[in-house]
Amino acid sequence: MINGQAKIFAPSKVAHDPQRIKAYLDGEQIFPVTMELDLTQLCTRSCPGCPYCSARKPGLTLQLPFLDRLFSVLGPHTPGLVLTGGEPTIVPHFPETVALARKKGFREIAIISNGGYIDHADIQDALLEYVTSIRVSLYDWQDEDSEYFIHTLKKLEGLRYRVEKEGSELQIGASMLTRTERNHRYQTVGLRALNSGIDWLYFHPYCIDWDRERPTQADQTGVLETIEQFKEASPQDANIQVPYERYSKKPLIFEKLHGSHFLIQVGANGVNYAGPECKYEDDAELLDLNEYLEDDFLWHPQRLKRLGEINSNNYRFIGTKHRPPVFSDYVQKLISIYQDGKTGEGFGESSDHFLDPSII
Ligand code: SF4
Repeated sequence: MINGQAKIFAPSKVAHDPQRIKAYLDGEQIFPVTMELDLTQLCTRSCPGCPYCSARKPGLTLQLPFLDRLFSVLGPHTPGLVLTGGEPTIVPHFPETVALARKKGFREIAIISNGGYIDHADIQDALLEYVTSIRVSLYDWQDEDSEYFIHTLKKLEGLRYRVEKEGSELQIGASMLTRTERNHRYQTVGLRALNSGIDWLYFHPYCIDWDRERPTQADQTGVLETIEQFKEASPQDANIQVPYERYSKKPLIFEKLHGSHFLIQVGANGVNYAGPECKYEDDAELLDLNEYLEDDFLWHPQRLKRLGEINSNNYRFIGTKHRPPVFSDYVQKLISIYQDGKTGEGFGESSDHFLDPSII
């Protein structure tokens, strides 16, 4: 049973584990809470605004021997794993990958998918047995209920049917990208999505200018107000999630990219990047794990040096307000509190307040 008050995202989620955040504030080496991994660059779609459009051209997929090694290093210490892409469910070894992740110790496994093969029996089997939550991104609804969109809802219904029938704990979520010109559609589309049997619906900002120096959010004027109206028109038990801080105009301030010690991103090329919003960008590369994947790769001097050099003045992806800079801003505030000697304040928000507390 999902707690309807629990949030999927808040900046404080980075600090939900008091021991880990305290260790970081004390200058100790920590394992991340979550690893986000592109299982493949291949996709069933080619969205015009895809952030990784040109970067995905090589069509790379991570293979099991690499995953075995990486999961062996992190699985015993890092509780959360997110598999994304591209489209992770189209990878032939997707079922083996999630089974391996469980075996190696990851406690919460989340999938970000466009719905790809979630109607295939072998993928459903793997989702029901090993995965904690799947978030299906909804596409092609901005002008009308396209065939693609309706087909995705049918796939969600089919997955919900099996979850109920077989008593799986898999949570099914869906996400919608927001920008001002889509505001008139949230209610119609959102109600259809909720009717498909999803556990929660997540709104988040659409970003633009991925091919430029400084990607940023598209205009979000009126988005939050429109979502509030939609909430009022929705069934009382509808779980509608909004990462409000990502819509905030407040500047993010951090001296180091602290957030990327808690959430690490690995691309389908085996490279560790500073964050999901800058994967495949040369200047965001932290460490090539094809060259160094020893037990202590997290503390490789080059990786630590790069993370220490990135700050809110030079991080060119800051305008998208993705998780690493938002978390970094939050941790920077905790550092100030901690340095002022006000210990005990500000960290360790109860994990009960979050859905999937290990998926940050
Ligand atoms: S579904 Fe996602 S990864 Fe695939 S093309 Fe669209 S935006 Fe890119």
